[in-house]
Amino acid sequence: MKYSKNEKQIKYSYTVKDKHWVGDGFHVHGLIRPNEDLLPYISPFILMDYASPKNYLQSTTPKGVGQHPHRGFETVTIAYQGEVEHHDSSGGGGIIKSGDVQWMTAGKGVVHNEFHSNDFTKKGGVFEMVQLWVNLPKKYKMTDPKYQSISNDTIPKVEIGENKKSSLRVIAGEFEDIKGPASTFTDINMYDISSVSEDNIAIVVKENTNSILLILDGEVNINEQVFSEQTVLIFDKSGENLKFKTSDNFKGLFLNGKPIDETVVAHGPFVMNTKEEINEAIDDFQNGKMGYL
Ligand code: MN
Repeated sequence: MKYSKNEKQIKYSYTVKDKHWVGDGFHVHGLIRPNEDLLPYISPFILMDYASPKNYLQSTTPKGVGQHPHRGFETVTIAYQGEVEHHDSSGGGGIIKSGDVQWMTAGKGVVHNEFHSNDFTKKGGVFEMVQLWVNLPKKYKMTDPKYQSISNDTIPKVEIGENKKSSLRVIAGEFEDIKGPASTFTDINMYDISSVSEDNIAIVVKENTNSILLILDGEVNINEQVFSEQTVLIFDKSGENLKFKTSDNFKGLFLNGKPIDETVVAHGPFVMNTKEEINEAIDDFQNGKMGYL
């Protein structure tokens, strides 16, 4: 394949081989963090943790992460294999099953926990999940918290690819004229893409937006460069056409969004615009203003 003028080029490609534990239930590759170099190319996405497939034995005690707060952004949990159960300070809760997406707006603050579901804990099995943090612009950072529980059957799936061997699920935004179910505070497109066998895929995005492709399984070939599973590709802003060749059994997560051009101060579970707002978040959490479980 030759470069055409409008074709998107890769700015960064890397993997983080070493995994770390979030609580005792999520063994993740910490693939994206909001550092100064990356931020201009990833915003509004600020964090990506990938719990690549891992087998858990049957157990009686759910593994996971106990109560903790969030403020100033949204967490998006995409379950591929296994189940996550969550409870929060507003009394809400639910189970995110394989194929489901949970889009949680932390806004002014929630306290929640995230564990393997009771059912998954009892049965054991392979667990695979992605958690993303999506930033909120200043004017929405203190919005009321909310959940969108997006079940697998409400996510539209379309056949794509030159060989018609691929499919794309529209989680947020739109693909061609098919709209995804998630409501977002800024312009975002989020697609789950898979190929059963080799295919050529073309995606069109808006100029000057950020685009990220996480390879979960299989390989992609872009301009004769091959990238394999657990690699994250971050594209340059210029260009509108993203083209790649997939391998057999390819599985990927594609993110696209309009960058939020504001300062980011991230500290633990809080993502605000200034240091003062971080201190306020810490105080508010310690004084119970984000609630209790
Ligand atoms: Mn959390």
